[in-house]
Formats: sequence, structure tokens, C-alpha cells
Amino acid sequence: MENQTNTEMHQRKGRRLVLFPLPFQGHINPMLQLGNILHSQGFSITIIHTNFNSPNPSNYPHFTFHFIPENLSESEASTTDLAVLVQLLNTKSVAENLKLPMMVLRTSGASSFVVFTAFPFLRERGYLPIQDSKLEEPVVELPPLKVKDLPTINSRSPETIYELINGMVDGAKASSGVIWNTFEDLEQSALANLGQQFSVPMFPIGPFHKCFPASSSSLLTQDQSCISWLQKQSPKSVIYVSFGSLAAIKENEFLEIAWGLANSKQPFLWVVRPGLTNGSEWLEPLPSGFLEMIDGRGHIVKWAPQQEVLAHPAVGAFWTHNGWNSTLESICEGVPMICMPCFTDQRVNARYVSDVWKVGVQLENGLDREKIERTIRRLMVDKEGEEIRGRIFVLKGEGKYLLEAGWFFK
Ligand code: UDP
Repeated sequence: MENQTNTEMHQRKGRRLVLFPLPFQGHINPMLQLGNILHSQGFSITIIHTNFNSPNPSNYPHFTFHFIPENLSESEASTTDLAVLVQLLNTKSVAENLKLPMMVLRTSGASSFVVFTAFPFLRERGYLPIQDSKLEEPVVELPPLKVKDLPTINSRSPETIYELINGMVDGAKASSGVIWNTFEDLEQSALANLGQQFSVPMFPIGPFHKCFPASSSSLLTQDQSCISWLQKQSPKSVIYVSFGSLAAIKENEFLEIAWGLANSKQPFLWVVRPGLTNGSEWLEPLPSGFLEMIDGRGHIVKWAPQQEVLAHPAVGAFWTHNGWNSTLESICEGVPMICMPCFTDQRVNARYVSDVWKVGVQLENGLDREKIERTIRRLMVDKEGEEIRGRIFVLKGEGKYLLEAGWFFK
């Protein structure tokens, strides 16, 4: 592989680009997809990665990989929070030291990034830190957000989080340009806002996954039984449930989800990632007899080929934590969402899905089986669901149109 890569490297005329993703699934996927897009345009690609959560280089023989030790023990790496890792990967100073121009790939949506840029002002006006008594109040300067939608992380040291967010915004401002995995028609006003605030160019060239799927950068093995199971289901009947690679829920929430799905009478495909439920390995909290009861109507896996699942005609709704990749993948396949954001930008994404693009409904203010059943009905059975389906079909078309036009390759 080494020889092949070196030979190819010498044949390529394009310049070499060094890509440095944060070592999390939601960052690795879009960065490697972007690498593929840039490679197809003649650039040579080097990926710098930590050993922690590293993608499999053999899936990318056309890239050169360099692994760096992150100086974290196995236990530190598994328990470390985002803050430590972000500090670890201070690419801005590396680029400055090497006198290399730096571009930033923002793996979040542009709308949530606008909120990050507003943090100093949100603190000044007393919206942050969030007070429990004000959760339902509107953030009047950033409609339609409510205080509870602000993208914070629960941390013992909120100041560290604020510093990180400022650093992230300043890093983007100091770069030569910002690449977004989004499309203009979806986030026009946020992109215009950022264009005014930043003096560097904005490149909304997504959705990346429609050019190059993320299956080869999956850190967990994708269970292909999902597809054969979906083949047996009626069109638009299945609720696909997944909360991404990082979110964790409590055991009582896990049980309410299980009963809500079971009682909904709809077929469901549920990704229960090992470690999803605090304190459990996998499905142990389920009551005995539950799996037999849902047999045939429910399919539970540890990790799914999500993009193929969302593109499958049997899928009628996506119950999601609204990570940006999942949100965008759902929009691009025209699958309406049930939104259950867990932290940071997911809350802003969810509010945009339900209140701006109006292509999903929120499951908010606690999780109980009756509410879950009602929400599933709203989307799968009621007229409201039909209207939502109509709107997401239009949005899907806009993303597809740009892609087919191949405008970013011009
Ligand atoms: N994903 C997957 N299989 C799953 C669940 C998720 O391949 O069972 C992929 C999904 O397609 C997306 C990524 O993992 O590209 C998750 O990114 P996202 O930004 O949605 O959430 P995060 O994991 O960062 O919270």
C-alpha cells in the first residue's frame, strides 16, 4: 500500500492538503468525505489522526495517514470530555508555526454556529449560564430559539467551555475560509449572517455524503441485517431510531423508549449502541419477554448503515438526537424527524427542524411512553405528518438539485 500510495503521490499534480479531524464519528465522517471530494479534484490528501478512534486506513488507500499519540491512557481517552480533546488538537497554532494557510471545516450546521458566535452577547444579556426558571423563555434576538435550545454543555467548568467556543469562533475567523457541510437553500440566512460577521469566504458545499458515503469511515461495524429486515416492511412504515455515536440516556428513559415503540404498533429499527444506556452494556434493562413480544415488528442492532437505512423506501420517520450529520442525512433522503436533542448544537438543529424548516416534531419536556406513542402517531398517521412529509420532500429536492448541478466542482 505504501508503494502504491507513494507512486500515486508522485503522479499527482495537485497540491497536498493535510486534513485533521477531531477524533469523533460525527467529525471523521464529513472530513473523510471532504477528503474524497478534494481528491477527486486532483489534490493529494494526508490525514493526521490520533490513535484514539482512528479510522481504518485500508479503506482509503488513496490517502496518506499519519497517526499521532494523544498522550492519553485508554481510561482517560474513554472518559475524557470534549474540552480536553479540543485543546489537544490546537491546529491553529500548528498551522501558524508552519506558516501554512489554514481552512476550517465546520462539521456543525451554520445556524447553530451563528449561536456560538453570539455567546459573548448571550452572556451579557443574562441568557447564559442557563437558569432553570427561564428554560421556556424565547431568546428574542435569535428567533425561534428558546433558552433551553442554547448549545451549552453541562460542565463543572463552564468558563472552559466558553473559552473553547470563543477559540472555535476565533479560529474560523482567522482562517483563510470556512467549509460547511450544508447547502445554501437550507441555511441561507445563517450563512449570510456569518458572511457579514467574518471577513473570510464561506463555502457551503454539502451535502458531502451524497458524493461519498460514510460507510468506510464508520468506527463501529454496520449491521447489514438492517437492510434485509427493511426489505420485508411496507413503504414508509418503519421508524428508524438512533441517537448517534456519543449521546447517552438513563435507564428509565431507555425503558420508556422501548415501551413507547412497542405500544406504537409501528415497525421500528432501533440502534442501541453499546454504552447508550448509562450503567448497561446493551439490552439488559429490557424486561424479560420484551424481545419475543416485538419479534418481527422491531429490529434492534448495535450500529446501522445509517445512510442506506434512511434511503430505504420502507423508512417513514427518523427518531434522532439531531447531530448535524444525522439531520442532514435525514433531510437529503426526505425522512421526517422526531427530534430528541441531547446536547450542544443538537438543540439548535432540532429547533430548526421543528420550527423553521418544519420537517419534524419535537419530543420535549420529559420522555414517557404515552407521549412517545402520541408523537409517533402525529408523524406516521395524522394529517400533520403528511404536511411535514410534503415539506421535507421539497427540501430534499433543493439539496439534490444543487448536487446534480455539481456546482461546487465548477
Ligand atoms: N451513524 C451510523 N450508524 C448508526 C448511527 C450513526 O453510521 O447506527 C453515522 C451517521 O450516519 C452519521 C454519524 O454516524 O454520519 C453520526 O453523526 P452525527 O453528527 O449525527 O452525530 P454524533 O455521533 O456526532 O453525535
